[in-house]
Amino acid sequence: MQVNRSFRYELPTTIEFGNGSIKDLPDHVKRLNGTKVLLVTDPGLQKAGVADRLAVILQNGGIAFHVYSDIQPEPDIEGVMRGRDEATSEGCDCVVGLGGGSALDTAKAIGLMLGNEGHIRDYVGIGKVPHKGRPVIAVPTTAGTGSEITVWSVLSDKTAKVKLSVGSPFNFPDLAICDPELTLSLPPHITAATGMDALTHALESYVNKATQPISEAMSIQSMRLIIRSLRFAVAQGDNLAARYDMLLASLMAAMAFNPTRLGLSHALAIPLGARFHIPHGTVNAILLPEVMGYNIPGNVPKFAEIAQLFEMPIDGMSPRDAAALAVTAVRQLKEDVGIQQTLSDFGVKEEHLDAVAEEAMTSGNVPVNPRKPTLEDLKQLCRDAM
Ligand code: NAD
Repeated sequence: MQVNRSFRYELPTTIEFGNGSIKDLPDHVKRLNGTKVLLVTDPGLQKAGVADRLAVILQNGGIAFHVYSDIQPEPDIEGVMRGRDEATSEGCDCVVGLGGGSALDTAKAIGLMLGNEGHIRDYVGIGKVPHKGRPVIAVPTTAGTGSEITVWSVLSDKTAKVKLSVGSPFNFPDLAICDPELTLSLPPHITAATGMDALTHALESYVNKATQPISEAMSIQSMRLIIRSLRFAVAQGDNLAARYDMLLASLMAAMAFNPTRLGLSHALAIPLGARFHIPHGTVNAILLPEVMGYNIPGNVPKFAEIAQLFEMPIDGMSPRDAAALAVTAVRQLKEDVGIQQTLSDFGVKEEHLDAVAEEAMTSGNVPVNPRKPTLEDLKQLCRDAM
């Protein structure tokens, strides 16, 4: 336990949260001195009619805009550069990202590249971006990544089959508009996977070695909301109260992990996602129970508290036994929301594990994990999830 530890917490992003809050988008664009918006979204949001809803709001508010929707899940670095070029040729001076992590991470990176030279690849890592870019408004439509308030853009180099992260204080969006109504069209399987991603954020931050009091409070509240509402959000997509809880939970989970980073689920999720095209939330959901079981000896009291949050029957149990019930509870939640796949279902085989473990070991999420893993430990975690 860390007593009286100093910590720092920074969140420059303004948050507007509420049902229907998207209606004020034109005022926010004007306040940020935007005259023409690059609306960054993806084909799924266009198909669901969510992009059209924003287009109408911008139009009625007298804001000119250009739509950029050349984005696939696990977005590519080249898509960022094409978006930057379109923004420049169209004279856009403000970026609105509308979507899940893929659209938001791309929008944030385009915003950065509108104020910085070169290629987004030049800024991979932490704190490498020299200047603030153009104003970015992030509008999440999944309840998972929390990208609307994080310093990160996670991008893929599809040729090299690797994911690259750009982390910079200049990558905090200026504003996050969190409108739960925009998540109502999310299909059950994406609701489930992204909800489990939010749980992984809250939980990994809560038990890791870098956590701090504000993050802990955010993690606890986030987990409570997910435990209360993820099953409802998946089973009843039109349940606005559950959607509200889940969007708030993913936001709070991101507020938790922004300064602390995460743990082994995310360290492994990045190379597995890049090589085998496993949706980010799904790979985290598959790994999380295995990683929790492995990590228990590194933080028994915290895992016992998580079992309590899940209202598991821990009265009279030893902390170690109670901690084990946290794993049972998370496995049950994963199954209840319909995530039954294993890594093998996505083509992961024994022969891939050396490369996956070696790449995972270089992640900044490893040093903060409650247990220090060996390469063999990382491979075994994958085997357990196969
Ligand atoms: P996503 O953005 O890839 O979206 C998944 C699918 O859901 C897409 O097809 C999209 O069109 C569809 N969709 C989204 N909202 C919808 C809605 N309201 N109605 C109907 N369809 C909708 O998924 P995601 O899980 O939100 O994001 C994953 C990406 O985020 C990964 O690349 C991951 O690495 C990254 N990520 C970033 C951070 C960060 O801090 N920036 C954190 C975690 C993950």
